[in-house]
Amino acid sequence: MRIFDLSGRVAIVTGGNGGIGLGMARGLAASGATVVIAARNPEKSEAAVAALAAIGATSAFVPLDVADPASCGDMVRQAVDRFGRLDILVNNAGMSIRKAPQDYAIAEWQAVLDTNLTGVFACTQAAYAPMKQGGGGKIINIGSMYSIFGAAYAAAYSASKGAIVQLTKSLATAWAKDNIQVNVVLPGWIDTELTQNARREMPGLHERVLRRTPAGRWGVPDDLTGIAVFLAAPASDFVTGAAIPVDGGFSVEF
Ligand code: NDP
Repeated sequence: MRIFDLSGRVAIVTGGNGGIGLGMARGLAASGATVVIAARNPEKSEAAVAALAAIGATSAFVPLDVADPASCGDMVRQAVDRFGRLDILVNNAGMSIRKAPQDYAIAEWQAVLDTNLTGVFACTQAAYAPMKQGGGGKIINIGSMYSIFGAAYAAAYSASKGAIVQLTKSLATAWAKDNIQVNVVLPGWIDTELTQNARREMPGLHERVLRRTPAGRWGVPDDLTGIAVFLAAPASDFVTGAAIPVDGGFSVEF
């Protein structure tokens, strides 16, 4: 269907070398987009590029440390130099440090905020000019159930993911007239390296998620491909500033 066609579009997925980012990258690539994988680990990133090439996509790795605003600017410039335009930015790179708020060092707080919030702003700011020049764009941010709920062991993560929702609304408002739509996806509990670590550090988490999720299962990265394609495609041209849960019902069960 043409409203979901991404042929000729160029996408950047930060943290696209694994987990949710790679799930979204697969969706964008399968719909015809060229996909830039922007992350730190070159081996994992080259493997992701090869996986996308195997489904017939054009793809490339561009190094990124999202916690460094200069690196965000360099990454976007390199992507645009290489492929000539930028249509879609998925701000997916993220991390967490799990401990009680009273035990958090300020440097740890800062590291989480730099990666999950300031990095999103820096990449998005760098993407604005090439998107405007190309006649519009799609920015897809990644929030969390902790954009809505509190987390006793992840105050910095939760603060960053709550802020992403408000940032999304402000950017959507600022850039609607430039035909740039900005939305945020709120994943439920998805089986990735991030949550495998969480399960190791928090006994009982696996079972608690199963009990608490109406769908009765953990999500998998491919559960995020559909929303990525929708929010990147002409199908969503009148959708902006929205926070969309993809959570198997987690956020609506009392
Ligand atoms: P993963 O740990 O599997 O992936 C995180 C990705 O982010 C990796 O590709 C990593 O690549 C990249 N990354 C981390 N730090 C940086 C950095 N400083 N610069 C560039 N890239 C970085 O996690 P998920 O796939 O689970 O998470 C992806 C996003 O989804 C995150 O924003 C997370 O908060 C969010 N999320 C995840 C949920 C889940 O249940 N899994 C639920 C809700 C939200 P590299 O190490 O190579 O840099």
